[in-house]
Amino acid sequence: MNNALLELKDIDQSFAKAEGRTLTVLSNINMELKKGEIVGLLGKSGSGKSTLLRIIAGLITPTKGEIHHHDDKVPDKALNIAMVFQTFALFPWLTVLENVQLGLEALGVPEKEMRKRALAAIDLIGLDGYESAYPRELSGGMKQRVGFARALVVNPEILLMDEPFSALDVLTAETLKTDFLDLWIERKIPLQSVLLVTHNIEEAVLMSDRILVFAANPGRIVTEIKLDFPYPRDRQSPMFRAMVEQIYTLMTSGMQKKEYDLTARVAGAGMYDKLPRVSPNQLAGLIEALVAAPYHGHADLPVLDQALGLGTEEVLHLVEVLRLLRFADVEAGDINLTVIGKAFADADTHKRKQIFAEQLMQNVPLAAYIYRVLQDRPGNQAPHVRFLTQLEDHMTEEEADEALTAVTSWGRYAELFAYNDNSEIFSLENPTA
Ligand code: ADP
Ligand code: MG
Repeated sequence: MNNALLELKDIDQSFAKAEGRTLTVLSNINMELKKGEIVGLLGKSGSGKSTLLRIIAGLITPTKGEIHHHDDKVPDKALNIAMVFQTFALFPWLTVLENVQLGLEALGVPEKEMRKRALAAIDLIGLDGYESAYPRELSGGMKQRVGFARALVVNPEILLMDEPFSALDVLTAETLKTDFLDLWIERKIPLQSVLLVTHNIEEAVLMSDRILVFAANPGRIVTEIKLDFPYPRDRQSPMFRAMVEQIYTLMTSGMQKKEYDLTARVAGAGMYDKLPRVSPNQLAGLIEALVAAPYHGHADLPVLDQALGLGTEEVLHLVEVLRLLRFADVEAGDINLTVIGKAFADADTHKRKQIFAEQLMQNVPLAAYIYRVLQDRPGNQAPHVRFLTQLEDHMTEEEADEALTAVTSWGRYAELFAYNDNSEIFSLENPTA
């Protein structure tokens, strides 16, 4: 028998949407959790990570596929699985001790033993002395410690963590990660395997034996990365930095592949691809920052991410659009402004708009499409709903709205077309052109 504890086979998940449409959130997920490993699940928000955790926890039954549990002694015995949530999910009217005991109540553990085990879990996670405090009296870090104690008190074989550190400030998160890793490494908890969901690359590299990189629409595993260097890991070590960079590249080049797909010589191909909502001002700001010192046109993505302080996801979105518009290339974790990007940086406002318009027309099929429709229509006008409905036939409502909002702000900036927020009507900026 191999040492897999849990196996997911061909899992699909879709949800019913309005008007009989379905939203496919997860597609063809195959993975396993092995004894003794922490697996990081890394992906952007909306890629179905929380949904996958809920499936593994048994909270929802997948649309398709199978889940197998393996136990050394008892084959196909359901494993004990506990979960830690981003939002802590504590009951405000219960004390720390009562919140932790809650995990045991469902199991029918006798009162006295319940108390003993809860106190031990509280002690283990560093909350000794706070047993009778209420959640409102605790800091965010302490609240999440209660979240951990409540999960660990049931002696789970598998712990699922859904972005457990992302609601905490950086230092608090760091301390809690280290404390948790200490417990894990020193085997102070009988836990056999951990699945950690995160959108933070550094966190995934710090904590995981293996990282599964997720892509969105539908959520699916695109790559598996093994990290066989020892804990505790030094963030400053060349190996750590190299790994972070490699994953950055992977996550951004995943987008480039998609972008190439959509240039596949079919008119209008790529019309229905997701577009992140980033503003032209943010894009211009990033191009200006990149062209100036200390970058002079090229930067190391993780370094840039740190320097901008916008959050990794936001930076990935900006970089995605810079690539889409051919203002920058990304290679091996570095971003380089292209000749067009540099020309944009050097240009005055009027010229910038011209360059932006050209890049939009050439590289963003939705922008070119809106422009063509407006040209063909009498009066060169079209209502917002005309495009939104069309997009919604191919994308979720959320994605359609986001893509159209993004392209509207870009088209307006470029003066490719105008849009009236009140009448919700697009029109050609300059119909005679
Ligand atoms: P992540 O955790 O990666 O951010 P989620 O799993 O929360 O992603 O959500 C993935 C997608 O599934 C989102 O578009 C979300 O709106 C949708 N979704 C999640 N749960 C439901 C549900 N119960 N009904 C309909 N759509 C859902
Ligand atoms: Mg989530």
